[in-house]
Amino acid sequence: MNFLTLVYAALKVLTATPSESTISKVIPPHESTWTYDGKGNGINDWYQLYPKCKGQFQSPINIDTRLVDYNSSMKIDFIGFQKLYQAFIENNGHTVQLGVEESTKPVLTGSAVDNKIYVFAQLHFHWGTDSLLGSEHSINSTFYPLEGHLAFYRKEYESFDKALNYSDGLVVVSIFFKHADEENHALDRLIKGIQKIPRYRDKSLIPGFFNFSDILPSNLNNFYKYSGSLTTPPCLEIVTWLIIAEPVNISEGQTEIFRHERANMISSKTGEYAYLNHNYREQSPLNHRRVTASFMVNSNTDQNEYIA
Ligand SMILES: [Zn+2]
Repeated sequence: MNFLTLVYAALKVLTATPSESTISKVIPPHESTWTYDGKGNGINDWYQLYPKCKGQFQSPINIDTRLVDYNSSMKIDFIGFQKLYQAFIENNGHTVQLGVEESTKPVLTGSAVDNKIYVFAQLHFHWGTDSLLGSEHSINSTFYPLEGHLAFYRKEYESFDKALNYSDGLVVVSIFFKHADEENHALDRLIKGIQKIPRYRDKSLIPGFFNFSDILPSNLNNFYKYSGSLTTPPCLEIVTWLIIAEPVNISEGQTEIFRHERANMISSKTGEYAYLNHNYREQSPLNHRRVTASFMVNSNTDQNEYIA
């Protein structure tokens, strides 16, 4: 066997179909088979593989504005959110998730997060089958039809996955969307991107550049803060939640685009991937946690405008 034959033989081994064990190693740890509706892996069974899902300090929660503490010194600084980013969006079977291509990501800091620096990881959404439900959090038991989650990891921990090992690893900023008669054209690029990824594992670039300002309300100073968990497996209790009070407008027709996404689950009726027409988790009790507001909720008439 000459040298070239040896090289060829070695290449053949390297490029051979990977064995089952090799395949399981290359699947990212966060890509898993849990579902919202499935039998055995649905929402009520998450705890079997992910025991933390039965924890004491879970998310989402209802925020009762009569019971919140007030802290006017609490501020969030959004840095780099005005820039335009090349963004991609994918259907991961649980939601539609947006990430940015640029190596310099937007960051979040400020007294609300003890002036630690958190790096943007991804934005995803939760919605429901009709306009009365869909958000995971609620204000005085009022739900919104759509809730966006901007997930950040603490810069010091270097990556999202490494940050999962620390109690202050993640910050999630929550944005509510409220139904309005008119379409919100600032959401057009996002909606067009979602229309390109109807099936599980579909991935596409957002047309043009993505501007975070398009999906954020004008007032980012009024928010609620509490300590909780990821609302999906592994339900780790490492999340500082910052829930922005002012909702963003969206039309019912625009929300409908989200409901046409397909889940990572085959429908027993059709034999095809089922519609992902709802992907919110049931709320958990506060269990003596406190919610803090950055603004005077009860004496502020604006609060009534925030509540749908
Ligand atoms: Zn979420």
